Amino acid sequence: MILPKFEYKRASSLAEAIGYFNQFKGQALYLAGGTDLLPLLKQRLFQPAAVIDLKPIGELNALSRDKRWLTIGANVALFRLKQEDMVQEYFPALAASLEATSCETLQMRGSLGGNLLQDARCLQFNKSLEWRTARGFCWKMGGPACNVVPNAKNCFANYSSDNAPALLSLSAQARLVGPGGERTVKLEKLYSADGRKPLALQPGEILTQIRIPLEKTGGTYEKLRVRDSLDYPLVGVAVSLKGEVTRVCVGGVGPAPRLYQLQKLDDVSVQEAAARAAAEAKPVLNTVLPPAYRKKMVGVLFKRAIKKVQQGGRR
Ligand SMILES: Cc1cc2nc3c(=O)[nH]c(=O)nc-3n(C[C@H](O)[C@H](O)[C@H](O)COP(=O)(O)OP(=O)(O)OC[C@H]3O[C@@H](n4cnc5c(N)ncnc54)[C@H](O)[C@@H]3O)c2cc1C
Ligand code: SF4
Repeated sequence: MILPKFEYKRASSLAEAIGYFNQFKGQALYLAGGTDLLPLLKQRLFQPAAVIDLKPIGELNALSRDKRWLTIGANVALFRLKQEDMVQEYFPALAASLEATSCETLQMRGSLGGNLLQDARCLQFNKSLEWRTARGFCWKMGGPACNVVPNAKNCFANYSSDNAPALLSLSAQARLVGPGGERTVKLEKLYSADGRKPLALQPGEILTQIRIPLEKTGGTYEKLRVRDSLDYPLVGVAVSLKGEVTRVCVGGVGPAPRLYQLQKLDDVSVQEAAARAAAEAKPVLNTVLPPAYRKKMVGVLFKRAIKKVQQGGRR
C-alpha cells in the first residue's frame, strides 16, 4: 500500500510546528515515529494536506528529573525509556508495559507521545479503503451506524496503548502546547471515552512532556494478546502501589482506560474491585477474541497483577 500525497514539513521548534499547523488551516497531522500514523494514512483513514515531523525538536527528546518529577519528552523512544535505571527502579508498572509493547524494533522507532496519542482500533475500521467501501462506512468513518453493535449510539473502538494504563496507575501528567497556549493536565483528562475521537486534544495541540511523581512504587503490567512476539493488548492491566494506596488501570477494552483505586489489598477488597472492573468492561466483537472471554480476563488479570505485586513488588 502506498502513502497518499501530502506536504511533508520538518519542524525544528514547537512554534514552527504550530505555525505549519495554522498555515494548513488545521488540515495537518503531527508525526513522531510514524508506526501508528503511517499505516492509517496508507489505509486512507486520514488524508491530511500536510504531515508535520516533530522529530527534529530537541526538547521533545529530553529526559530529566528534579526532586518531584521524572519528566519524559514526548519523542523519547520506548526502547530508550525501558532501559532507564530510574524507570526500572521507581516505576515497575511502566517498565513492564514498555517491555510488553509490540517488539523491540517497534520500540526503537515508536515514541512515548505517539504511543499515548495512538488512535483507537477496531476490526471493522483498520482496513483498506476498498474493504471498508464494500462493507459500508461506520460511525468512526463518518458513516450512519456502528458495524459491530446495531443501533449503538457510541463507537466501541479499542484504545490500545500499553503504556497509558501504566502511566495512569502512576498518576502521570501531560504537558500540552498548542495554538491556544499551554496547559498541564492529569493524563486521564486526555481521554474522551468516544471511540470516534478518543483523545481530548485541542486542535493543533502538541504533547510535549509526560511527567511522573518521583516516588518509588511497586507495580506490574499484565497483558492479554494472541501472539507474545508482537500484538496489541486485548486487555491490559497495570498496577502501581504507593504507600497504602494501590491504583489499578484497565486498558485495551473500549475507547478509554479505566482507573480504580484500592485502599486495602485483602482478599475481599481485591475480589470486589476485580468483579467491578470486569462488570464495567464492555468489550464487543471488534477484536480477534470473543467479548465474553475478554470480559472474564479483565477480572483474572486484575487479580493476577495485584497478586504479583504483593509477592514481588517493590514499594
Ligand atoms: C505492528 C504494530 C504493532 C503494534 N503493537 C503495539 C502494542 O503492542 N502496544 C502499543 O501500545 N502500541 C502498539 N503499536 C502502536 C504504535 O506503534 C506504538 O504505540 C508507538 O509507540 C507509536 O509511537 P510513534 O512515535 O510511532 O507514533 P506516531 O505514529 O508518529 O504518532 C501516533 C499518533 O500520535 C500523534 N502524535 C505523535 N506525537 C505527537 C505529539 N508529540 N503531539 C501531538 N500528536 C502527536 C500523531 O499525529 C499520530 O496521530 C503497534 C503498531 C504496529 C504497526
Ligand atoms: S466500534 Fe463500530 S463505529 Fe467504532 S470503529 Fe468499530 S464498527 Fe466503527
